[in-house]
Amino acid sequence: MKGVTTYLTGDQLKEALGANQNKGATFTLLDDVKLPDGVSLFTHAGGDITLDCGSYTLSGNCESSALVYVNRDSLTLKGGTLKNTDPTGCCVAVSSKFGQFRMEGGTLLPEGGSGHAIEVYGSVTVTGGSVGESGKGLNLYSSGTATLSGGTFGDIHAENGLSSILAEGYAFCRDGKPVALTLDQKDIEGPVAVVKCTHPDTTAPQDKGDGTHSLSACLACGKSDGAEAHDWTENRLTCTVCGAAAVARMEPDGTLLTEAQLEATLNTVNGIYTLTLLRDLERSERLVVGQYVTCTLDLNGHTIRMTGSGMAIYTYGDSNVTIRGTGEIISVNSNALTVLGTATLEGGTYSGGRRRLR
Ligand SMILES: [Zn+2]
Ligand SMILES: [Zn+2]
Repeated sequence: MKGVTTYLTGDQLKEALGANQNKGATFTLLDDVKLPDGVSLFTHAGGDITLDCGSYTLSGNCESSALVYVNRDSLTLKGGTLKNTDPTGCCVAVSSKFGQFRMEGGTLLPEGGSGHAIEVYGSVTVTGGSVGESGKGLNLYSSGTATLSGGTFGDIHAENGLSSILAEGYAFCRDGKPVALTLDQKDIEGPVAVVKCTHPDTTAPQDKGDGTHSLSACLACGKSDGAEAHDWTENRLTCTVCGAAAVARMEPDGTLLTEAQLEATLNTVNGIYTLTLLRDLERSERLVVGQYVTCTLDLNGHTIRMTGSGMAIYTYGDSNVTIRGTGEIISVNSNALTVLGTATLEGGTYSGGRRRLR
């Protein structure tokens, strides 16, 4: 049945989830399913089970027990709602230290009372979704481990401490602000979300000009390195952490460069590469193409405008630059381009200016 999506209800679902031949299967709910009172689901198949409840609810009334037990197995929840209507029960119990539960989305709703949404003796990974309501989120026993890189939680108790359960670079966030953790803190009140850390308690991260930003110890995510690479993943051309702007993309490997890196690369990096502009540049210093540098500058529709006293681009002897694409190179007061090496112009408009004499 591997790879097959199956429609089942109630007792049939219980039987199928626990059946050995269903290793690797994905179960997709096509309607709400209510389990008979006292009935829990067990994933005993010894393989990877995926449960996708879509927009539906899987509910049960499991007193002092879990709606779903993950034992020596792994279960992934993709979406939908799991609800245990008994106040003493929980939604998902990872009941053996060999069990693994991965939550990528969906909502876990334990009824008010003592039970948590997830009780963990094994391991849990949460990348998204909603884990319980206030005071009833995630409970990790001493053998339990977690890796959190998303999701919101009613609360969290971690017997071995909270900082060890955050994925690298992530922090707990409440009311839109990352929460500073104390050493060995084991509990955090909800509602609390796990988000990518912006390192708010450090001195403001500064662009160091070499593709990294500086960082002092962060109390929210525990990061204490002196520097880390810019993070272009969320805002594409602006570093999520320090706000540095990417101005060019270096091919063939696609590295994004800040303006300081663009300057340094053109000046010193010998090799065959293409720099594609991603923004207009307004400059007070000339761009220098260094000796022995061979490169292509693709204007990509952008303008390099030099407002200082010198030329916009200056190339040293033994350099070899190709400029292509539509775009403009302007010097308000001097030459647009001064070539001592070789320049091949395949595109661009070049405008020089001259200081007006009085
Ligand atoms: Zn941080
Ligand atoms: Zn940065």
